[in-house]
Amino acid sequence: MEQTDIIYFDNAATSFPKPMQVYDEVRRSMLYGGGNAGRGAHRLSMAAARKIFDCRMIAADFFGCEDPEKVVFTMNTTYALNLAIKGLLKTGDRVIISDLEHNAVYRPICALARDRGIKYDIFDTGCKENTSDDKLCEGIERLIRRDTRMLICTCASNICSRTLPIEKIGRLCRKRGLIFVLDAAQGAGHISIDMKRMNIDVLCVPSHKGLYGPQGCGMAIFGDGIECDTLVEGGNGYDSLNVGMGEMLPERFEAGTLPAPVIAGLCEGIKSVMAVGVEQIAAYERALYARALEMLDNTDGVRVYAPQFAGGVLLFDLDGFTSEQVASELDRYGICVRGGYHCAALAHKTLGTRASGAVRLSFGRYNKMSELEAFWRALRSVKDMR
Ligand code: PLP
Repeated sequence: MEQTDIIYFDNAATSFPKPMQVYDEVRRSMLYGGGNAGRGAHRLSMAAARKIFDCRMIAADFFGCEDPEKVVFTMNTTYALNLAIKGLLKTGDRVIISDLEHNAVYRPICALARDRGIKYDIFDTGCKENTSDDKLCEGIERLIRRDTRMLICTCASNICSRTLPIEKIGRLCRKRGLIFVLDAAQGAGHISIDMKRMNIDVLCVPSHKGLYGPQGCGMAIFGDGIECDTLVEGGNGYDSLNVGMGEMLPERFEAGTLPAPVIAGLCEGIKSVMAVGVEQIAAYERALYARALEMLDNTDGVRVYAPQFAGGVLLFDLDGFTSEQVASELDRYGICVRGGYHCAALAHKTLGTRASGAVRLSFGRYNKMSELEAFWRALRSVKDMR
């Protein structure tokens, strides 16, 4: 099957395709900037370093961070979250998380509960009752205790389109002296994020989803006054005679060779999102969502979860089939969707889909309305197999 025959509704896993300028820049960077950034002062090394710095500047600007040196490149969002969680929480600390967290947050928190005796509380995002933002924040306030040190939550769910009131949560964290870590794996590029205005202390984002960069990198972007331990130590060409990683950002957290071509591609991905506009992209995804919802509502045996939250992610199941069966049958028609649990056991428990998982459609800016018609035809054929 040709790539052009494929209908890709799995953008929450990773966006596809990427803007052409991303592919072009990765290639250009490998051909003309193939040195190792920070490991030498020759022209190829400097060319790679310049690209990396360009990306820090663009990312800082895009996310409202005043200092590009606070943009730390990581392997992915998971690594950025582990850095913030394990580098900031100490034995005996308490942390608040949401009931929609991905395993990228939930698992490191559970590991620290086991290894460092940290405790965690879970706040209700009101997915079922459509709780107001103020009520959600009141729920968080009730969980804050003397030893609560951090709040970490997702910006938007990866299994439904629930977006959390980040600005209000950030304001509350600032007022109550909590470190605010935001998992923006599903928010970046879909929601406008301003670290300063939203009081975000550490912002964790991927290259490869809503920013339309390549896979292989993410970012942990630090706010002011955050003192975080390292997760990994090693060389980076900076202060090599010191046995420690030093205090300077970004070098403190960037051990080992950075994926310069990937970062160069990410830089183009962010520029392309800026050129189209986050609001524009989100509005288009909502239009796709509305049409898909209308189709699913008109299909017997389909149940949609949390349909009240319109956005880029839609979760459903089909009577008589497991979610994995639906996903693999759709794949026979060239339609890529994801079934199962989406690495989000806690979120599936919240939506009541923990027993069986569900099918996720996730839209991106390159999806077309006509692709939804093809999806609907295929889904009805799958249904008729029963
Ligand atoms: N957080 C959320 C909400 C996600 O949806 C994902 C990935 O799907 C992650 C974290 C992990 O992102 P990455 O695969 O870049 O580590």
